Amino acid sequence: MKLVLATSNRGKLAEMRPLLADLGHELIAQSELGVADAIEDGHSFVENALIKARHAARCTGLPALADDSGLIVDALGGAPGLISAHYAGVHGDAAGNIRKLLHELRDVPEARRGARFYSLIVMLRHADDPQPLIAEGLWEGRILDAPRGDGGHGYDPVFFDPVLGLGAGEMPPDLKNRVSHRGRALAALRDRLRVALT
Ligand code: IMP
Repeated sequence: MKLVLATSNRGKLAEMRPLLADLGHELIAQSELGVADAIEDGHSFVENALIKARHAARCTGLPALADDSGLIVDALGGAPGLISAHYAGVHGDAAGNIRKLLHELRDVPEARRGARFYSLIVMLRHADDPQPLIAEGLWEGRILDAPRGDGGHGYDPVFFDPVLGLGAGEMPPDLKNRVSHRGRALAALRDRLRVALT
């Protein structure tokens, strides 16, 4: 049985596949099935996740999983938030997004650079499923003043986890998966997912 992941982002697929490996369902990206990205015009993470999952389920006829996530920075009133992927103007321009973020925070001292990654994951059994499974995950940290490490994607190079004492870009993938917003949301969803898919 297949479960379609509403993304064309290979980094996300690579992160989520091992977390769902024991589910007995093959996770495939919608892009592998020729499905284009949905228009994310919701006003919150949960609305966007539902829009993406419904689009993937409708186009493929398969149960669909979608994650909407972003970075929330306290000193910027919650920005980049919903527009994390295109904060600097171009979708997926991670280097540009990081440059803009560091510029906006140039005068903000370490003690006020608190931030968190947020992930909202939904699973729809079919496009008209009236009872979506929904889980959220948070990863608390702060924004560094310069990139660190060469792993991860998106804002990872400038996100620091003070509990582990490591930047997200310095973490091996399995460690990041255990502590990240997406890892936590998936952990919260996994048992319910198993029940819903059998
Ligand atoms: P989404 O694909 O609409 O969920 O957009 C999320 C955006 O938030 C991504 O393009 C990244 O810029 C950022 N983001 C979400 N999760 C992470 C992460 O784990 N590391 C770094 N950046 C992330």
